[in-house]
Amino acid sequence: MKTDIEIAQAATGEPIDDIAAKLGLAHTDIEHYGENKAKIKLPIQGKTAGHKLILVTSINPTPAGEGKSTVTVGLGDALTKAGKKTAIALREPSLGPVMGMKGGATGGGMAQVIPMEDINLHFTGDLHALTEAHDTLAALIDNHIHQGNELGIDPRAITWNRVLDINDRALRDVVTGLGGRTGGVPRQSSFDITVASELMAILCLGTDLMDLKRRVNKILIGYTYDKEPVTVADLQVGGAIALLLKDAIKPNLVQTLEHTPAIIHGGPFANIAHGCNSILGTNAALKLADYAVTEAGFGADLGAEKFLDIKVPNLGKTPDTIVIVATIRALKYNAGVKLPELGVENLEALKVGSANLKRHVANMRQYGVPVVVAINRFSSDTDAEVATLKALVETELGVTAYDTTVWANGGDGATELAAGVIEACETKPTTFKPLYNDDDDLMTEMTQIVTRIYGGAKVELSAKAARQLKTFQARGWDQLPVCMAKTQYSFTDEASVLGAPTDFTIHVREFIPKLGAGFIVALTGKILTMPGLPKKPAALNMDIDENGKITGLF
Ligand code: ADP
Repeated sequence: MKTDIEIAQAATGEPIDDIAAKLGLAHTDIEHYGENKAKIKLPIQGKTAGHKLILVTSINPTPAGEGKSTVTVGLGDALTKAGKKTAIALREPSLGPVMGMKGGATGGGMAQVIPMEDINLHFTGDLHALTEAHDTLAALIDNHIHQGNELGIDPRAITWNRVLDINDRALRDVVTGLGGRTGGVPRQSSFDITVASELMAILCLGTDLMDLKRRVNKILIGYTYDKEPVTVADLQVGGAIALLLKDAIKPNLVQTLEHTPAIIHGGPFANIAHGCNSILGTNAALKLADYAVTEAGFGADLGAEKFLDIKVPNLGKTPDTIVIVATIRALKYNAGVKLPELGVENLEALKVGSANLKRHVANMRQYGVPVVVAINRFSSDTDAEVATLKALVETELGVTAYDTTVWANGGDGATELAAGVIEACETKPTTFKPLYNDDDDLMTEMTQIVTRIYGGAKVELSAKAARQLKTFQARGWDQLPVCMAKTQYSFTDEASVLGAPTDFTIHVREFIPKLGAGFIVALTGKILTMPGLPKKPAALNMDIDENGKITGLF
C-alpha cells in the first residue's frame, strides 16, 4: 500500500492558473509561488450571501486516528463531483507536529491536498513570517528596556515571550539578557510554539491589513512598575510588526488530488489557541465558491466550540451544516480497547465508546445548525460495525451517519455524504444560537462551555487566576470571549479520561489576555503552550536524496 507522500508525489497537479480560474480568478489576481502554489491578492471581490459553509469537526482525537482533514478534502472533492462549485479552506501545518508525532495537515490516502511536501514544510513562509514578527516585537521590548525604559516596563511583568515553530521543551523556560552590560537586561522568559502566538490568532481573525494593524497595536505586552498595562501602541511599533505580515495575510491557493481549489491559510492549534483557519481564507472560499468546506482543529469540544463562539462573530457567517467525523477504531478506543486490538470486530465496545460521539452531536445541535456524522472508514472496520454505528446514531440521535471511504477512494468515497450535506444545506434552515452572549463575563462563558459542551459540573480557579480575574474586571476585559486551552484527548482537563465523563471540575490555572486577538486564554490542567517531541519523533523516518526527493513524510 502506498504511503500518503507516495500518492501525493505520483499525482500531477493542474497549473495553479487553472485552479484559480475555477474560482473566477485571473492570472493577475494571484501571486505565483512556483507552478502549483499561489497567494490570492487582497481585497478579494465577491459576495458570500447564499453561499454555503460546511464545518468539519470530530470526536475527541485518539492515537487510533480520526481523519478530519482527510474527510474535509474528500467531501470537497465529492461536492465538486456533485456539480457544486466548491473550495476547501484548511489550516496551515506547523512543523511541531510534522517533526513530532501527529503528522501533517494535508489529509491522507486519496483525499489529500498537493504539493503535500511543500505545504507541510515551509509552504509560502507564513509561519516563518509570524515567528519573525513575534520575535521582532520581543526584541523591541527588550531593547526599549535596555535603552532606558522610558515607559517604565517592569521586566518581571512582561507577558510577550518568544516563539519558534517546532516542539522544543528546552525553551519552555529561559533566562535572556545574560551578556553583561551590553547584553540587555536579564529577565526570565519563555518560548511558545508559533501556532500559539497571538499574532497567529490576529492573522486568522483579522479582516484586512488595516484591521490586522489595529489589532497588533492593541496587544498587551506587559505591565509597568505601577502595574499599568503596556501595549504595542505604547511602544509605537505596530506598523513595523504589521508590515512583516503583509504577505502572510494573503490566503494561499493550492489544489486537491482531484483538482478542487484548496485555500490553506493560518494555523493555530485548537488545544492552546483558537484552532481555526483564517477569516480571510474562509471568506475567500465563501466568496469565490458556492460551497466552502472548512475544518476546525481537534475535537468539537475545542475547535468547533471556538469556531462557533470566537470565529463566527468575526466571520459574520454561521455554518449551514456541521459534519462530525468519527472512526470505529477511535470509538472502540474510547471504550478502553487497546491499540493492537482495534482491528478486531467488537460491537459492544463500539456501543460503549459511541458515548463520546453522542455528546459531540448533542453539543453541536445546541447551536441550531444541522448536524451529520461521517464515519471515516478504515480497512479493518467490518460491515457489522458500520451498520451498528449508523443505526445507533440514526435511532438514538436522529442524525444521519454516512459511511465514507475517501481515504481509499477520494471524492467517490463521499458521494452519499456530499448528497446529505447538500440536502441539509439547501433544505434545513439554521437557527444559530451562540453558547454565550456578548455581554457575558468570563466566569459565565467558562461555566457555559464546561457544563454545556464538556459535560462537567463547574470551573475552579487557582489563586492566581482568581486574582487575575479581579484585575480584568476592573479593566473591563472580562467580557471578551474565552479561549479555553485544554487537552484535546478528553472532555475533562485530564488527558487520560476518555468517553463521556460527567460531574467533573475544570481547573483554570492562569489567564492570558490576548487583547489584539480579542479573547482571554484560560489555561486549564497541565496544558503546555510549547509542546515537547516524543521519544521517537517522526523526524527519524524522514530523508531526502540527491535529487531532492523526500521520503518518510507520513
Ligand atoms: P486529523 O485531521 O483528524 O488530524 P488527518 O486527516 O490528518 O486527521 O489524518 C491523520 C492520518 O490518518 C493521515 O496520515 C491519514 O492518511 C490517516 N487516515 C485518515 N483516514 C484514514 C482511513 N480511513 N484509513 C487509513 N488511514 C487514514
